[in-house]
Amino acid sequence: MLAACYIRVSTDEQAEQGISIPAQKSRLLSYCQARGWEVYGFYVDDGYSGKDLDRPAMQRLIEDAAAKKFNTALVLKLDRLSRRQKDVLYLLEEIFEPGGVGFKSVTESFDTTTPFGKAALGMMAVFAQLERETIVERVRMAKNESARQGRFMGGPAPFGYRYNFGAKKLEIDEIQAQEIRWIYDRYLSGKLGYGYIAGELERKGVPGPTDERWNKTSVRKILTNPAYAGLVNHKGSVYQGKHEAIISPEKWREVQVLIKSKGAVRAAAGVHTGLLSGIIWCGECGARMRVKNVWQNYPRLSPKKVTKYYVCYSQDKTGSSHMVRDPDCRCGYKHADEIENEVIQQLYIYSYDKVLLRQAVNESLAAAGDKRSFIRGINQARKDFNSVEKKLEKWCDAFEKGALEPDELVERVKELKERKAYLHNHIIEMENRLKEENERKINTEELLEILQNFTRIWENATADERREIVINTIKEVRIYTDNRIEVEFNL
Ligand SMILES: [Zn+2]
Repeated sequence: MLAACYIRVSTDEQAEQGISIPAQKSRLLSYCQARGWEVYGFYVDDGYSGKDLDRPAMQRLIEDAAAKKFNTALVLKLDRLSRRQKDVLYLLEEIFEPGGVGFKSVTESFDTTTPFGKAALGMMAVFAQLERETIVERVRMAKNESARQGRFMGGPAPFGYRYNFGAKKLEIDEIQAQEIRWIYDRYLSGKLGYGYIAGELERKGVPGPTDERWNKTSVRKILTNPAYAGLVNHKGSVYQGKHEAIISPEKWREVQVLIKSKGAVRAAAGVHTGLLSGIIWCGECGARMRVKNVWQNYPRLSPKKVTKYYVCYSQDKTGSSHMVRDPDCRCGYKHADEIENEVIQQLYIYSYDKVLLRQAVNESLAAAGDKRSFIRGINQARKDFNSVEKKLEKWCDAFEKGALEPDELVERVKELKERKAYLHNHIIEMENRLKEENERKINTEELLEILQNFTRIWENATADERREIVINTIKEVRIYTDNRIEVEFNL
């Protein structure tokens, strides 16, 4: 077996124990030695994060895997490869598998040829992603701190301002600021919609923000941006900024109240996007399905009720014509809530599959069994090591007492020293294997816990997180005329 060892450490991890480049190198090397594998080479990305695959050594690994220069890719931990599940699956399915290259993680056991191995791998990759997300969260917290101090939060300066790099603050661009004032006044006085205002700006020939044309979104962004009232917005909290306001805080708040009162009608009716958007297809004609909010006008309700449906693009003629697969498709409007519940049920069952769980438990028990034999092996080797040392002492004593010829001593000592070195290496190797087994067991238990707690995780997840879970675990959902649902999982 010819193994390519991939090593990665990010700048914030460099101080962490056990993850340094030499630490990873020695663990990978001892893993290969224990199995009699040859090392094809070390691919080292020093100071790169796992957020994408844009790393020099990773690119070389991909090229060499495609050229079949080695049989297996080896990492210490899955997150060394990537912290994104998508990237991990890409490497496995698009690079390693077609190239006939196997993949091994020293501290996690995945047999990617079995469904469980793939499921486990997918789940672990989701963890790795979550870990990265906690790092992202930390960055956000640091930004929060900066917002509390009233500093501009980065990104392009809002339309109406310029960023003064010397003074490190926003300054008013008088020409653009006039348009800002005009937009606010227009919205307040005329009670006009975003689209109408955007149209007027276009007709006046005002250059749009960031060189784009004016549209509903850009107008809405301007009307809701607290920067114009001299404030700094960060993650829903507003702080007093260090820059000058273009719109008085009173007028700005007045606009916010008006926007909210207009939006309240829609919000109360519960207009929302679909949990399954992008992965749901019509089983009959093969077209994508979209969410359709149907307003109920009768009986007259206040606030109005809305019902959410999934409907295929072939049937929903309001969509673009290129999405139509069969103009005669009559698969029907599907109640979105019912479909989503059914899919989530299947996801529960899939996650809590008894067979998969039993397999995982057996695997971790098998690892524990190996552990006992490793411990026995280590103890035996230590005993042998001690007895070799005692023998050495004995021979030396004998020599001192004149009971042994120098030549004889040299030969015996040489033999014993070789034996000693062998035992020493053997003990280190066994200890490393034991460490691996321990880590593998912990990872398996962690995975089991996640699978068993899926229901609770789901219940506590936000809409965005649920969407994230669905996209990561489900490949495709197909619905038929008789409301039959087929769910195809990613993992
Ligand atoms: Zn259809």
